[in-house]
Amino acid sequence: MNTNMTMTCNVCEQDTDCRIGYSNRQIQPLSFACPHCGSLMKITLDVSNAPQSKFAFESCRPSGNQPTRMFEGLNPFVDLHLDFPVRFGEYVPGHTPYLMAVQDLHDDSDPAASHLKLSFHVERLNQLNQLNHFHDRFDEIKTIIRLYGGKNKQLFKKRVSDFLKMDQDTSLKPEDVNAALYQFISFVFLPFVNFGEVREVVDGFSDLSINLPRPALGKFVDSLIKSGFLANLQRDCLKIYPEIYCAEMALRPAFFLDLKGNYEKAKTAARISTKDFQSYKDLYKDIIEVFARQLILLAGINNIIKRGNSDAFKKVDGGSLSSLEKFAGKTLSEKFKYLDDCFYNIDKDAIDAGIRNSIAHNNVHYDEVTQLITYYPNGGGIAQTIGETIYFLDFMRMILVLFREMHNLHHLIKVLFYYEFLVLQKDRQKQKE
Ligand SMILES: [Zn+2]
Repeated sequence: MNTNMTMTCNVCEQDTDCRIGYSNRQIQPLSFACPHCGSLMKITLDVSNAPQSKFAFESCRPSGNQPTRMFEGLNPFVDLHLDFPVRFGEYVPGHTPYLMAVQDLHDDSDPAASHLKLSFHVERLNQLNQLNHFHDRFDEIKTIIRLYGGKNKQLFKKRVSDFLKMDQDTSLKPEDVNAALYQFISFVFLPFVNFGEVREVVDGFSDLSINLPRPALGKFVDSLIKSGFLANLQRDCLKIYPEIYCAEMALRPAFFLDLKGNYEKAKTAARISTKDFQSYKDLYKDIIEVFARQLILLAGINNIIKRGNSDAFKKVDGGSLSSLEKFAGKTLSEKFKYLDDCFYNIDKDAIDAGIRNSIAHNNVHYDEVTQLITYYPNGGGIAQTIGETIYFLDFMRMILVLFREMHNLHHLIKVLFYYEFLVLQKDRQKQKE
């Protein structure tokens, strides 16, 4: 369903024609920059009393000149839809974001496939109505994750079983508390990840923990536990999860990009109809920071696989690192050089050290009207440097893909903890006896 409405900007008093497409969310906060003056205009669609729809406006209002049926092309035109990338420009009756999405996915050789993919997208957004449902329970999710880090593990387990409506055993052994955590996270964050991929990754990590030489893996895990590194890293991963639900609405159109094979960045100025870049730029920086530390785990295990010792690095450019500690001090792009032929395949699509550094040093410019982000990886000086660009939609896709990487590697943390609880602690027990 769509509604056509002409909006007047409260700042410049000029009109814009909007076609508002309906998502399955009860409250749909849409926004866009005024094409005339760049001010942010907000339209909130409330369908909680469907079939009635209620609109609320901020910084704009419905114009006195409403279209009787179709727009006449006198004003700039914008499409708005929470679930799909939208395009601005010329108004074409019937070319709704939904229909354009179908067309985008169309494959002449297999016409049925595009419809199948699209219904998968809608299904995922609907997934037990999960995104909407959990978004509304955001505070609860945050509380449960916080309780995991606290002293009262009993309360944590109780809240998990209440939330999942699933009975949990009452064991407070660390491995059982951990199991509850990962069950909770896997369930709540299912719409964001690729379930088949996660399962494969987890199986791979578990196999490794069984098959790697025990003394080398034992020494590695022992050092991660004793230094507190593994627990700290897990805590920092857990901080990211609630933030992903905060970004849920701006991630919806990015989900759609999953469906397009061989996705390429910045071909078209497809846009997102909610919030803006400023609300999410730090999220990318925060996830990449956690991810960079997760690479230490990958490096240690990769070194054990290749050279039998977590500290044994391959020679790079004639030199070699003497320890994981040295590796930890390297920059993100340098770190990749030392992960020779890594056993785990990192999706490099999501890693952009240039944009990360630019955000960290505040060398980023965002154009609200075009939704184009310009960043200056070498900027900061007085001399004008040439920037690189990325669309907001592509940026949100990077957040999504990077989050999936972080989530996968969070499972590696789980496996290493289990190794400590179920193998190393039992070994120590035996030695005492
Ligand atoms: Zn304006």
